[in-house]
Amino acid sequence: MIIIMLGAPGTGKGTVAGILSEKLGIPQVSTGDIFRKNIKEETELGKIAEEYISKGKLVPDNITIEIVKDRLNEKDVENGVILDGFPRTLGQAEELEKILIKDNKKVDMVINLTTPEEEIIERVSNRRVCSNQDCKAVYNVVLNPPKEEGICDKCGSHLVKREDDNPETTKKRIQTYLDLTDPLIEYYTNKGNLFTEVVSKNTKLGKQVAEDIVSKIKGE
Ligand code: AMP
Repeated sequence: MIIIMLGAPGTGKGTVAGILSEKLGIPQVSTGDIFRKNIKEETELGKIAEEYISKGKLVPDNITIEIVKDRLNEKDVENGVILDGFPRTLGQAEELEKILIKDNKKVDMVINLTTPEEEIIERVSNRRVCSNQDCKAVYNVVLNPPKEEGICDKCGSHLVKREDDNPETTKKRIQTYLDLTDPLIEYYTNKGNLFTEVVSKNTKLGKQVAEDIVSKIKGE
């Protein structure tokens, strides 16, 4: 099963994708995580990606598509994958379709997460992520805090704030989302496999949304 997570920054794509991955037994592939790993390891790709990420811009399509193409050739994604943060432009969506068609595959489900705009900045500034690249658990210090402050419940590593989770870069990321990623909602609506869920402190948080999606997929 091939699932795409769509949504503006801070809507909970990573959280929902992580739970789906665990419950459905298929890997989560986050382009943002791949870039951050490369930035940490100071690779050539990391140096290029950082230029864009720090400004709230998208890494160019040609670079991003190559990375995803390579990742989708790996064995662990043969039976399915949750693409977290890819595609983010129409060009990426069209390329993904071409990559999948070659293997007789298609996107089965697109999960579009939306959050009221006034909550996004707050959610992003309260976000903390596990510094362990193999864990990458995500917390919210108010809505979903770790048991011990600053420490990951899952692996005991330190929690950190993402460099791009500051209000100024977040505003730019939201604008980038509106300009380049929002058109994908219409693209996938027309294909008939878009499924929208609202994530908000006033309705459902990411964990509940993920549970509901799992039940829907399993036909419970
Ligand atoms: P994320 O972890 O999904 O919030 O992504 C963090 C940042 O990585 C984004 O703000 C972009 O700069 C970059 N990025 C992640 N995925 C993509 C993508 N599919 N295309 C271009 N840039 C991306």
